[in-house]
Amino acid sequence: MESDMNLCEVSLKNLFDTEEGKRVLSCIQCGVCRGTCPHGFAMQYPPRKIIGLLKAGMIEKVISSPDMLLCISCYSCKNKCPRKIQLTNMLLPLVKEKVFENLGEVPPELQKALENTFRYGNPLGESPKKRQEWVKEAGVPIRILSQDKSPADILWWVECYSSYHPRGIETAIATAKILNAMKLDFAILGNEEVCAGECARLVGETGLFDTMREKNLKTFKKYTFNRIVTSGVHAYDALAFKYPCSGFHYPVEQITPFLAHHIQLLKPLLKKRLDDYVVTYHDSCVLGRHNGFYEEPRTLLSAIPGLKLVEMAHNRENGLCCGGGGGGMWLDTYYKMMGLERLSEKRVKEAVASGADVIAVSCHYEIPRFEDAIKVMGYDQRIIVRDVVELLTESMGG
Ligand code: SF4
Ligand code: SF4
Repeated sequence: MESDMNLCEVSLKNLFDTEEGKRVLSCIQCGVCRGTCPHGFAMQYPPRKIIGLLKAGMIEKVISSPDMLLCISCYSCKNKCPRKIQLTNMLLPLVKEKVFENLGEVPPELQKALENTFRYGNPLGESPKKRQEWVKEAGVPIRILSQDKSPADILWWVECYSSYHPRGIETAIATAKILNAMKLDFAILGNEEVCAGECARLVGETGLFDTMREKNLKTFKKYTFNRIVTSGVHAYDALAFKYPCSGFHYPVEQITPFLAHHIQLLKPLLKKRLDDYVVTYHDSCVLGRHNGFYEEPRTLLSAIPGLKLVEMAHNRENGLCCGGGGGGMWLDTYYKMMGLERLSEKRVKEAVASGADVIAVSCHYEIPRFEDAIKVMGYDQRIIVRDVVELLTESMGG
C-alpha cells in the first residue's frame, strides 16, 4: 500500500518544485489515461490534456470548464499510467479544487449532498442526533463512547450510509454481529461521528473536507482507543491517507480486509452452508485499484461453506467502476442529461452475464447504486446485492 504523506504539501502553485510534480513533467502524452477512463470518450480534458495545458501554462482552460465533474476517481488512469503519475490521488484533486471554486453552477443533487454534509455531517441530510439510532435495532451490544468512556481496542467508524440508509443499516447490524461473535473489544462514536469528507475532497470541495477532518480529529482526542476499523471505503482512504497530514496517527483498516486478516477467528463461526448462492465480487475502486485489496474479499467469500464464487469479465485491477466515487454518487442526473450510460447498469449487465445471482460488495455506495440499476433494468428476480459482511452473517446463522 502506498503512502500519500509526501503529497500533503503539494499544491498547484508548488507542483513542479515537488518530487511528484517532477514526475508529472515526465508524461509522454501516450493517452493511456484517456483510453482507460470510463468517461474518457466524453472528456474534453482527460489527464493527458490537463498535463499538456499545465506545462504550457494554460491550466485556466481546464479550470474554467466543468469537464472535471466527469472524473469519478476510479483510479484507473493512475494505475495504468506508464510514468506512475499520481493522477487520481494528487494531480486531479488539485485541479478539481480550482474547478470547483470556479464552477458557475454546481449540479443540484451534488450541491444538496455537500450542503447536507456541512449542515448535518452526512450527505443524506439526516439529523446528526439520529446517527446512532440504528444501534437500537442491532440486537447485539454496541458500546457508544459518549456513554461509556473507558478505553476501547477498536474504534469502529460506522460511516454515513451505514448509519442512515436502510440498506446501509443492515450492513452495520451485520458488522456489529460479526464483531461481537469474534469477541472483539470495540466501540463507536455514535452521534459524535461526522462524515469523513473524502467524497467532498475528491469532487474539489476541499474546504468542506478540512471542516469534517477538524471536527473528527477533535472528537478522537476525547477518547482512548488503539486503532480504527471503518465500514466505509472512502472513509478508509480519508483516515489512512489524508487525516495523517493533520497529525492523525492511528492504524486504520477497512472492515473487509480487516476480517480477512482475522480469517482464523472468523472461519469457525461460518457454519451455515450457502449452497444456493453463486456470487460475483465487485471490486470497489478504492479497496481494489487504490489499495490493492483484491484477494481479501475473495478470501472471505471463499470461506463461506457451499458458496460458489465466479468472476465478472472485468475484475481486480480491470474492474469496472460503479460510478459512485469522487462525487459521482450525486451526479447521476447530471450524467444522464449528458446522455452518458450509467456505469452501475453497465456493471450489473456484466454481473448477470457471469451467471451469478448475487453481487457481493464492500462499499456502501454500491448497494443502493446496484439495487437501483437492477430495478431499472428489470433484473429484480434475477440478481441481488449483498455486502460481504451480510453474507458472512448469513453463514453465521444470524
Ligand atoms: S497515461 Fe500517464 S504518461 Fe500517458 S498521457 Fe496519461 S498521464 Fe501522461
Ligand atoms: S480517475 Fe478514473 S474517472 Fe478520473 S480521470 Fe482517471 S480514469 Fe477517468
